[in-house]
Amino acid sequence: MINVAILGSTGSIGTQTLQVIQHLTGYRVYGLSAYRDIAGLARQIKNCQPQIVVVSDRDSARQLGNRFNIKTAHGEAGLLELAADPNVDIVVVAVVGFAALAPTLRALQAGKKVALASKEALVAGGHLLAPYRSQIMPIDSEHSALWQILDGKNSETVESAILTASGGPFLYEPKDLSRVTVEQALKHPTWQMGGKITVDSATLMNKGLEIIEAHWLFSLGYDQIDVVIHPQSIVHSMVRFVDGSVLAQMAVADMRLPIQRALTYPKIGKSLVSRLDLASLPELTFMRYNPERFPCLELAVTAGKTGGSMPAALNAANEVAVNSFLEGRVAFTDIAEIVKEVIDKHQLVLDPDLAQLAAADEHARATALSLVEQLGRKG
Ligand code: MG
Repeated sequence: MINVAILGSTGSIGTQTLQVIQHLTGYRVYGLSAYRDIAGLARQIKNCQPQIVVVSDRDSARQLGNRFNIKTAHGEAGLLELAADPNVDIVVVAVVGFAALAPTLRALQAGKKVALASKEALVAGGHLLAPYRSQIMPIDSEHSALWQILDGKNSETVESAILTASGGPFLYEPKDLSRVTVEQALKHPTWQMGGKITVDSATLMNKGLEIIEAHWLFSLGYDQIDVVIHPQSIVHSMVRFVDGSVLAQMAVADMRLPIQRALTYPKIGKSLVSRLDLASLPELTFMRYNPERFPCLELAVTAGKTGGSMPAALNAANEVAVNSFLEGRVAFTDIAEIVKEVIDKHQLVLDPDLAQLAAADEHARATALSLVEQLGRKG
Protein backbone atom coordinates (compact mmCIF):
# COMPACT_ATOMS: atom_id res chain seq x y z
CA MET A 1 0.00 0.00 0.00
CA ILE A 2 1.26 3.49 -0.90
CA ASN A 3 0.34 5.96 1.84
CA VAL A 4 -0.65 9.39 0.59
CA ALA A 5 -0.92 12.60 2.62
CA ILE A 6 -2.90 15.43 1.04
CA LEU A 7 -2.10 18.92 2.29
CA GLY A 8 -5.05 21.10 1.34
CA SER A 9 -7.51 18.25 0.84
CA THR A 10 -10.75 20.25 0.70
CA GLY A 11 -9.76 22.46 -2.24
CA SER A 12 -10.26 21.72 -5.92
CA ILE A 13 -7.04 19.69 -6.37
CA GLY A 14 -7.48 17.97 -3.00
CA THR A 15 -10.98 16.69 -3.77
CA GLN A 16 -9.96 15.54 -7.24
CA THR A 17 -6.94 13.76 -5.74
CA LEU A 18 -9.32 11.80 -3.51
CA GLN A 19 -11.32 10.76 -6.59
CA VAL A 20 -8.14 9.57 -8.29
CA ILE A 21 -7.00 7.60 -5.22
CA GLN A 22 -10.41 5.95 -4.99
CA HIS A 23 -10.02 4.84 -8.60
CA LEU A 24 -6.43 3.55 -8.23
CA THR A 25 -5.57 0.29 -6.53
CA GLY A 26 -2.74 0.10 -4.03
CA TYR A 27 -3.10 3.68 -2.74
CA ARG A 28 -4.44 4.68 0.66
CA VAL A 29 -5.25 8.09 2.15
CA TYR A 30 -3.03 8.30 5.23
CA GLY A 31 -3.38 11.95 6.20
CA LEU A 32 -5.45 15.01 5.29
CA SER A 33 -5.11 18.67 6.07
CA ALA A 34 -7.54 21.52 5.61
CA TYR A 35 -7.37 25.19 6.40
CA ARG A 36 -10.93 26.46 6.85
CA ASP A 37 -13.44 23.94 5.49
CA ILE A 38 -13.90 21.80 8.60
CA ALA A 39 -17.29 20.45 7.46
CA GLY A 40 -15.77 19.35 4.17
CA LEU A 41 -12.87 17.75 6.00
CA ALA A 42 -15.28 15.87 8.28
CA ARG A 43 -17.01 14.38 5.22
CA GLN A 44 -13.64 13.33 3.82
CA ILE A 45 -12.69 11.68 7.12
CA LYS A 46 -15.91 9.63 6.99
CA ASN A 47 -15.30 8.60 3.38
CA CYS A 48 -11.64 7.71 3.42
CA GLN A 49 -10.73 7.09 7.06
CA PRO A 50 -7.28 8.65 7.26
CA GLN A 51 -4.97 7.97 10.22
CA ILE A 52 -4.33 11.64 10.94
CA VAL A 53 -5.82 15.03 10.11
CA VAL A 54 -4.32 18.49 10.45
CA VAL A 55 -6.29 21.72 10.71
CA SER A 56 -5.28 25.31 11.34
CA ASP A 57 -6.56 25.75 14.91
CA ARG A 58 -6.46 23.77 18.12
CA ASP A 59 -10.22 23.84 18.80
CA SER A 60 -11.19 22.33 15.45
CA ALA A 61 -8.47 19.71 15.89
CA ARG A 62 -9.86 18.74 19.30
CA GLN A 63 -13.45 18.59 18.02
CA LEU A 64 -12.53 16.38 15.07
CA GLY A 65 -10.39 14.17 17.32
CA ASN A 66 -13.33 13.57 19.69
CA ARG A 67 -15.90 13.10 16.95
CA PHE A 68 -13.94 10.60 14.86
CA ASN A 69 -11.55 9.13 17.42
CA ILE A 70 -8.65 10.01 15.14
CA LYS A 71 -5.17 11.44 15.60
CA THR A 72 -5.11 15.21 14.99
CA ALA A 73 -2.60 18.04 14.85
CA HIS A 74 -2.88 21.74 14.13
CA GLY A 75 -1.07 24.77 12.77
CA GLU A 76 2.09 24.93 10.72
CA ALA A 77 3.86 22.53 13.10
CA GLY A 78 1.15 19.93 12.47
CA LEU A 79 1.46 20.38 8.73
CA LEU A 80 5.24 19.96 8.85
CA GLU A 81 4.87 16.85 11.00
CA LEU A 82 2.45 15.25 8.53
CA ALA A 83 4.74 16.19 5.62
CA ALA A 84 7.61 14.25 7.21
CA ASP A 85 5.57 11.43 8.82
CA PRO A 86 7.59 8.20 8.43
CA ASN A 87 4.50 6.29 7.25
CA VAL A 88 3.85 8.63 4.34
CA ASP A 89 5.16 7.74 0.86
CA ILE A 90 3.72 10.56 -1.26
CA VAL A 91 2.81 14.06 -0.10
CA VAL A 92 0.34 15.89 -2.32
CA VAL A 93 0.83 19.62 -1.75
CA ALA A 94 -2.29 21.56 -2.72
CA VAL A 95 -2.09 24.38 -0.18
CA VAL A 96 -2.78 27.80 -1.68
CA GLY A 97 0.10 30.25 -1.76
CA PHE A 98 3.40 30.78 0.05
CA ALA A 99 2.20 28.59 2.95
CA ALA A 100 2.96 25.61 0.69
CA LEU A 101 6.72 26.20 0.68
CA ALA A 102 7.72 25.07 4.18
CA PRO A 103 5.82 21.73 4.16
CA THR A 104 7.04 21.03 0.60
CA LEU A 105 10.64 21.55 1.65
CA ARG A 106 10.14 19.47 4.79
CA ALA A 107 8.62 16.57 2.82
CA LEU A 108 11.45 16.64 0.27
CA GLN A 109 14.10 16.73 3.01
CA ALA A 110 12.41 13.71 4.59
CA GLY A 111 12.86 11.86 1.29
CA LYS A 112 9.18 11.87 0.26
CA LYS A 113 7.89 12.02 -3.26
CA VAL A 114 6.00 15.30 -3.53
CA ALA A 115 3.11 15.68 -5.96
CA LEU A 116 3.20 19.45 -6.18
CA ALA A 117 0.13 21.43 -7.15
CA SER A 118 1.14 24.61 -5.32
CA LYS A 119 3.23 26.44 -7.90
CA GLU A 120 3.74 29.28 -5.41
CA ALA A 121 6.19 27.04 -3.50
CA LEU A 122 8.44 26.78 -6.57
CA VAL A 123 7.95 30.43 -7.45
CA ALA A 124 8.94 31.72 -4.01
CA GLY A 125 11.53 29.12 -3.06
CA GLY A 126 12.57 27.39 -6.27
CA HIS A 127 16.27 27.54 -5.44
CA LEU A 128 15.59 25.69 -2.15
CA LEU A 129 13.46 22.99 -3.82
CA ALA A 130 15.50 22.50 -7.01
CA PRO A 131 18.12 20.22 -5.41
CA TYR A 132 15.25 17.75 -4.78
CA ARG A 133 13.92 18.03 -8.34
CA SER A 134 13.91 14.27 -8.89
CA GLN A 135 11.40 13.84 -6.02
CA ILE A 136 8.95 16.45 -7.37
CA MET A 137 6.01 15.30 -9.53
CA PRO A 138 4.24 18.36 -10.95
CA ILE A 139 0.45 18.67 -10.74
CA ASP A 140 -0.03 21.52 -13.15
CA SER A 141 -1.43 20.61 -16.54
CA GLU A 142 1.29 22.44 -18.51
CA HIS A 143 4.17 21.08 -16.46
CA SER A 144 2.72 17.61 -16.39
CA ALA A 145 2.62 17.81 -20.19
CA LEU A 146 6.23 19.02 -20.39
CA TRP A 147 7.26 16.32 -17.93
CA GLN A 148 5.65 13.64 -20.11
CA ILE A 149 7.22 14.99 -23.30
CA LEU A 150 10.68 15.44 -21.76
CA ASP A 151 10.73 12.03 -20.05
CA GLY A 152 13.79 10.15 -21.29
CA LYS A 153 14.92 12.96 -23.63
CA ASN A 154 18.47 14.25 -23.69
CA SER A 155 18.32 17.86 -22.39
CA GLU A 156 20.83 18.92 -25.05
CA THR A 157 18.25 18.14 -27.73
CA VAL A 158 15.72 20.55 -26.19
CA GLU A 159 15.55 24.02 -27.69
CA SER A 160 12.61 25.44 -25.75
CA ALA A 161 9.43 24.72 -23.85
CA ILE A 162 6.20 26.30 -25.05
CA LEU A 163 3.60 26.80 -22.34
CA THR A 164 0.05 27.12 -23.59
CA ALA A 165 -2.32 29.61 -21.96
CA SER A 166 -6.07 29.67 -22.42
CA GLY A 167 -6.00 33.44 -22.08
CA GLY A 168 -8.73 33.34 -19.42
CA PRO A 169 -12.14 35.03 -19.64
CA PHE A 170 -10.77 38.43 -20.74
CA LEU A 171 -8.69 37.41 -23.73
CA TYR A 172 -10.57 39.82 -26.05
CA GLU A 173 -13.39 41.41 -24.04
CA PRO A 174 -14.13 43.80 -22.42
CA LYS A 175 -11.86 46.48 -23.79
CA ASP A 176 -11.64 48.25 -20.42
CA LEU A 177 -10.55 45.76 -17.78
CA SER A 178 -10.74 48.20 -14.88
CA ARG A 179 -14.46 47.58 -14.35
CA VAL A 180 -14.69 43.81 -14.61
CA THR A 181 -16.45 42.10 -11.70
CA VAL A 182 -15.30 39.26 -9.50
CA GLU A 183 -18.03 37.09 -10.99
CA GLN A 184 -16.74 37.71 -14.53
CA ALA A 185 -13.15 36.99 -13.49
CA LEU A 186 -14.20 33.69 -11.92
CA LYS A 187 -15.84 32.46 -15.14
CA HIS A 188 -12.94 30.59 -16.69
CA PRO A 189 -13.78 29.37 -20.20
CA THR A 190 -12.13 25.92 -20.02
CA TRP A 191 -11.05 25.01 -16.45
CA GLN A 192 -12.93 24.63 -13.15
CA MET A 193 -10.50 25.74 -10.43
CA GLY A 194 -10.16 27.52 -7.10
CA GLY A 195 -10.63 31.30 -6.80
CA LYS A 196 -6.98 32.37 -6.55
CA ILE A 197 -5.77 30.47 -9.61
CA THR A 198 -8.82 31.46 -11.65
CA VAL A 199 -8.08 35.16 -11.10
CA ASP A 200 -4.39 34.46 -11.83
CA SER A 201 -5.50 32.93 -15.12
CA ALA A 202 -7.56 36.02 -15.94
CA THR A 203 -4.56 38.35 -15.36
CA LEU A 204 -2.13 35.85 -16.98
CA MET A 205 -0.08 36.06 -13.77
CA ASN A 206 -0.69 32.32 -13.64
CA LYS A 207 1.33 31.88 -16.84
CA GLY A 208 4.10 34.08 -15.46
CA LEU A 209 4.24 31.97 -12.31
CA GLU A 210 4.27 28.86 -14.52
CA ILE A 211 7.31 30.17 -16.41
CA ILE A 212 9.19 30.40 -13.09
CA GLU A 213 7.85 26.96 -12.16
CA ALA A 214 9.11 25.47 -15.46
CA HIS A 215 12.49 27.16 -15.01
CA TRP A 216 13.04 25.29 -11.72
CA LEU A 217 11.36 22.00 -12.60
CA PHE A 218 13.16 21.43 -15.88
CA SER A 219 16.38 23.48 -15.48
CA LEU A 220 15.42 25.68 -18.44
CA GLY A 221 16.73 29.20 -18.94
CA TYR A 222 14.11 31.97 -19.08
CA ASP A 223 15.01 32.49 -22.75
CA GLN A 224 14.05 28.84 -23.35
CA ILE A 225 10.46 29.21 -22.14
CA ASP A 226 7.81 30.66 -24.44
CA VAL A 227 4.09 31.25 -24.01
CA VAL A 228 1.44 30.86 -26.65
CA ILE A 229 -2.27 31.59 -26.25
CA HIS A 230 -4.37 28.53 -27.05
CA PRO A 231 -7.98 29.25 -26.03
CA GLN A 232 -9.25 25.67 -26.47
CA SER A 233 -6.99 24.20 -23.72
CA ILE A 234 -6.49 20.95 -25.64
CA VAL A 235 -2.73 21.19 -26.16
CA HIS A 236 -1.36 21.43 -22.62
CA SER A 237 2.17 22.38 -23.61
CA MET A 238 4.85 21.67 -26.20
CA VAL A 239 8.58 21.15 -26.51
CA ARG A 240 10.61 22.40 -29.45
CA PHE A 241 13.69 20.31 -30.18
CA VAL A 242 16.93 21.51 -31.76
CA ASP A 243 16.04 19.87 -35.08
CA GLY A 244 12.93 22.04 -35.37
CA SER A 245 10.40 19.36 -34.44
CA VAL A 246 7.72 20.20 -31.88
CA LEU A 247 6.03 17.62 -29.65
CA ALA A 248 2.67 18.52 -28.11
CA GLN A 249 0.70 16.79 -25.37
CA MET A 250 -3.08 16.82 -25.85
CA ALA A 251 -5.90 15.74 -23.56
CA VAL A 252 -9.25 16.98 -22.32
CA ALA A 253 -8.93 19.70 -19.67
CA ASP A 254 -9.24 17.55 -16.54
CA MET A 255 -6.83 17.88 -13.61
CA ARG A 256 -7.35 14.25 -12.66
CA LEU A 257 -4.92 13.37 -15.46
CA PRO A 258 -1.91 15.32 -14.08
CA ILE A 259 -2.88 14.18 -10.56
CA GLN A 260 -2.86 10.51 -11.56
CA ARG A 261 0.36 10.94 -13.52
CA ALA A 262 2.03 12.47 -10.44
CA LEU A 263 0.78 9.72 -8.12
CA THR A 264 1.67 6.78 -10.37
CA TYR A 265 4.86 7.99 -12.11
CA PRO A 266 6.63 6.35 -13.88
CA LYS A 267 3.64 4.10 -14.55
CA ILE A 268 0.82 5.11 -16.86
CA GLY A 269 -2.53 3.51 -16.06
CA LYS A 270 -6.16 3.79 -17.13
CA SER A 271 -7.73 6.98 -15.83
CA LEU A 272 -11.16 8.48 -15.17
CA VAL A 273 -10.48 11.15 -17.78
CA SER A 274 -12.69 11.15 -20.87
CA ARG A 275 -11.03 10.60 -24.22
CA LEU A 276 -10.38 13.28 -26.78
CA ASP A 277 -12.78 12.99 -29.67
CA LEU A 278 -10.46 14.44 -32.30
CA ALA A 279 -12.98 14.65 -35.11
CA SER A 280 -15.37 16.77 -33.05
CA LEU A 281 -12.82 19.14 -31.55
CA PRO A 282 -13.13 22.86 -32.21
CA GLU A 283 -10.48 24.39 -34.43
CA LEU A 284 -7.22 24.58 -32.48
CA THR A 285 -5.69 28.04 -32.59
CA PHE A 286 -2.42 29.53 -31.32
CA MET A 287 -1.48 33.19 -31.01
CA ARG A 288 0.81 35.60 -29.22
CA TYR A 289 -0.37 37.25 -26.03
CA ASN A 290 -0.85 41.00 -25.64
CA PRO A 291 1.66 42.27 -23.02
CA GLU A 292 -0.11 45.63 -22.63
CA ARG A 293 -3.40 44.01 -21.78
CA PHE A 294 -1.79 41.47 -19.45
CA PRO A 295 1.20 43.16 -17.73
CA CYS A 296 1.37 40.57 -14.92
CA LEU A 297 3.07 37.96 -17.09
CA GLU A 298 6.04 40.21 -17.81
CA LEU A 299 6.27 41.26 -14.14
CA ALA A 300 6.61 37.61 -13.16
CA VAL A 301 9.31 36.95 -15.77
CA THR A 302 11.25 40.01 -14.60
CA ALA A 303 11.03 38.82 -10.98
CA GLY A 304 12.10 35.33 -12.02
CA LYS A 305 15.13 36.63 -13.91
CA THR A 306 16.09 38.87 -10.98
CA GLY A 307 15.95 35.84 -8.70
CA GLY A 308 16.83 35.85 -4.99
CA SER A 309 13.87 37.00 -2.89
CA MET A 310 12.20 38.85 -5.79
CA PRO A 311 9.83 36.06 -6.92
CA ALA A 312 8.71 35.63 -3.29
CA ALA A 313 7.90 39.36 -3.13
CA LEU A 314 6.02 39.16 -6.44
CA ASN A 315 4.08 36.16 -5.23
CA ALA A 316 3.18 37.75 -1.89
CA ALA A 317 2.03 40.98 -3.55
CA ASN A 318 -0.05 38.99 -6.00
CA GLU A 319 -1.70 36.91 -3.26
CA VAL A 320 -2.69 40.05 -1.38
CA ALA A 321 -3.83 41.85 -4.53
CA VAL A 322 -5.91 38.89 -5.76
CA ASN A 323 -7.53 38.39 -2.35
CA SER A 324 -8.32 42.11 -2.19
CA PHE A 325 -9.88 41.93 -5.66
CA LEU A 326 -11.96 38.90 -4.62
CA GLU A 327 -13.11 40.88 -1.56
CA GLY A 328 -14.15 43.77 -3.79
CA ARG A 329 -11.56 46.14 -2.33
CA VAL A 330 -9.55 46.87 -5.48
CA ALA A 331 -10.14 46.82 -9.22
CA PHE A 332 -8.95 44.01 -11.48
CA THR A 333 -6.35 46.29 -13.09
CA ASP A 334 -5.04 47.28 -9.64
CA ILE A 335 -3.61 43.76 -9.26
CA ALA A 336 -0.77 44.49 -11.70
CA GLU A 337 -0.27 48.00 -10.24
CA ILE A 338 0.11 46.63 -6.71
CA VAL A 339 2.48 43.88 -7.80
CA LYS A 340 4.60 46.30 -9.80
CA GLU A 341 4.92 48.77 -6.96
CA VAL A 342 5.81 46.07 -4.43
CA ILE A 343 8.56 44.57 -6.58
CA ASP A 344 9.89 48.06 -7.43
CA LYS A 345 10.25 48.75 -3.70
CA HIS A 346 11.54 45.32 -2.73
CA GLN A 347 14.95 45.12 -1.02
CA LEU A 348 16.50 42.18 -2.83
CA VAL A 349 18.10 39.38 -0.81
CA LEU A 350 20.34 37.12 -2.87
CA ASP A 351 20.21 33.40 -2.14
CA PRO A 352 17.70 33.70 0.74
CA ASP A 353 17.08 30.83 3.16
CA LEU A 354 13.57 29.86 4.27
CA ALA A 355 13.51 32.41 7.12
CA GLN A 356 14.66 35.22 4.81
CA LEU A 357 12.02 34.23 2.27
CA ALA A 358 9.37 34.29 4.99
CA ALA A 359 10.55 37.77 5.97
CA ALA A 360 10.47 38.94 2.34
CA ASP A 361 6.99 37.44 1.98
CA GLU A 362 5.74 39.18 5.11
CA HIS A 363 7.25 42.53 4.17
CA ALA A 364 5.85 42.39 0.64
CA ARG A 365 2.42 41.51 2.02
CA ALA A 366 2.50 44.53 4.34
CA THR A 367 3.52 46.82 1.46
CA ALA A 368 0.79 45.37 -0.74
CA LEU A 369 -1.83 45.77 1.98
CA SER A 370 -0.97 49.42 2.50
CA LEU A 371 -1.34 49.95 -1.26
CA VAL A 372 -4.73 48.21 -1.12
CA GLU A 373 -5.79 50.59 1.63
CA GLN A 374 -4.65 53.63 -0.35
CA LEU A 375 -6.51 52.41 -3.43
CA GLY A 376 -9.58 51.63 -1.34
CA ARG A 377 -9.64 55.21 -0.02
CA LYS A 378 -9.32 56.62 -3.52
CA GLY A 379 -12.00 54.34 -4.94
MG1 MG B 1 -1.40 25.36 -15.20
